[in-house]
Amino acid sequence: MQLKNKTALVTGSTSGIGLGIARAFAREGANVILNGFGDAAEIESLRAGIESDSGVKARYDGADMSKPDAIEAMMKKAIAEFGSVDVLVNNAGIQHVAPVEEFPLAKWDAIIAINLSAAFHTIRAAWPAMKAHGFGRIINVASAHALVASPYKSAYVAAKHGVAGLTKAVALEGAEHGITANAICPGYVLTPLVEKQIPDTAKARGITEAQVIRDVLLAAQPTRQFVTVDQVAALAVYLAGDAAASTTGTIIPVDGGWTAH
Ligand code: NAD
Repeated sequence: MQLKNKTALVTGSTSGIGLGIARAFAREGANVILNGFGDAAEIESLRAGIESDSGVKARYDGADMSKPDAIEAMMKKAIAEFGSVDVLVNNAGIQHVAPVEEFPLAKWDAIIAINLSAAFHTIRAAWPAMKAHGFGRIINVASAHALVASPYKSAYVAAKHGVAGLTKAVALEGAEHGITANAICPGYVLTPLVEKQIPDTAKARGITEAQVIRDVLLAAQPTRQFVTVDQVAALAVYLAGDAAASTTGTIIPVDGGWTAH
């Protein structure tokens, strides 16, 4: 029970990687605050399932990560109930795949807001209580695309490279306050986010969906296998725990060797 008496807020945790991280934190004894979109009844069942499986408190806040005011209100509410958000995971993210000259302006703005600016807003709001407690763990779920690029993903690659920079800057600011900041950079994980981009990538490249999986997604990963949610969550648990007190400012790939190319 590495995270007993800690509170963790995981943005975008109604699905995929974020949900896996929230469940792994709860299994380690942390109270968790879920966030993200989806069907209200399904979210309530995820929330209640975490409480009954792990015996922790699980809350849900539907704040839209593209709205700074909603982010601030979410963080205020969490700190009022739990005293601090000890572990903050910036995970909410969206993707859009299109050639740069056709890239819709609204998609650019939304990706920068949700994948990059939201992490600034959550960190800013969580920071004073972390500093007062002399403890904080900021874990940004970036991507292999924080380190390398792929065509047709200009906004996503720009946002994720930005997250890497933000991680390093706040790691330096937090170093003497017991606050660490690290970025996890997964390769391809078969979540709804990736499933949704397969048809668009097929269209942009003029190939079939099967070819996208074999020749685009898994071609990037020397292991030729998708990374699993559990593998990413295990690293998040490590980074949240005491053993990682000296690990800060790092950008850690979990990408089957992709960025070793
Ligand atoms: P997903 O689509 O399964 O989950 C995304 C989550 O973000 C959902 O809970 C969704 O409701 C939430 N979300 C989206 N917009 C939001 C908003 N405006 N406000 C609040 N919540 C919002 O995707 P995933 O694959 O689990 O992605 C999670 C993170 O991991 C993202 O930041 C993504 O960029 C990153 N990532 C994913 C992969 C992959 O291959 N799946 C690889 C590298 C990085």
